[in-house]
Amino acid sequence: MYIKEIFYSFQGEGPWVGYPQIFVRFYGCNIHCSYCDEPDFVHQRKPYTVEQVMAELTPLLAKRPHSISITGGEPLIQVEALKQLVPLLPIPAYLETNGTLPKHLSEVVDLFEYFSVDYKPGFDKEFAEFMAILSGRKNVFVKWVLTKGFPVLELKKMINTIATVAPDVPFVIQPVTPFGPVKDKATAEDIERAYNFAHQKLADVRVIPQAHKMLGLK
Ligand code: SF4
Repeated sequence: MYIKEIFYSFQGEGPWVGYPQIFVRFYGCNIHCSYCDEPDFVHQRKPYTVEQVMAELTPLLAKRPHSISITGGEPLIQVEALKQLVPLLPIPAYLETNGTLPKHLSEVVDLFEYFSVDYKPGFDKEFAEFMAILSGRKNVFVKWVLTKGFPVLELKKMINTIATVAPDVPFVIQPVTPFGPVKDKATAEDIERAYNFAHQKLADVRVIPQAHKMLGLK
């Protein structure tokens, strides 16, 4: 499997913000977001065996983390590796995914206890299938990265999609952290407008920025 890095830090996004975790960051992604803070650079791609991953993360368990975040990139593109690795993890596994690969999710869904699912504009069909697989599970939330001046029409379309397939799942609006080509933060007006649209149709809406970036953590 291809891994970028394994480290200990604090969850910086969503409802479990602040919990200590071991992060296993898988290399590579199937899509390209303008605001991505983990772009693919081949020189960062390290081949690992399952045994090597376990050897690197096992000493970090002494810090008593809450769970192990399987993140990326998009970890579901390496679904065969997940089938080997995740059953060996001695504490709960937390999947951070872009929500665009439902078939891959269906192969490993029972291995995870926590699900952080992005909504990515343009992948509504995949997102709907993804949320159908997660239907009825606890410990799921949907996250959407709000960029400056996000168009109202797109916003309405997105909220309608989420209201159709996951109206009761906690929905986290995450104002973008400027990185690379993204220079601007979402404005207070952008945030309020997005919240008000979402709040009309969804049961549980929150605005949570990336806390680890604010604190200078990994
Ligand atoms: S889905 Fe995530 S990892 Fe993939 S390009 Fe978008 S932000 Fe980056």
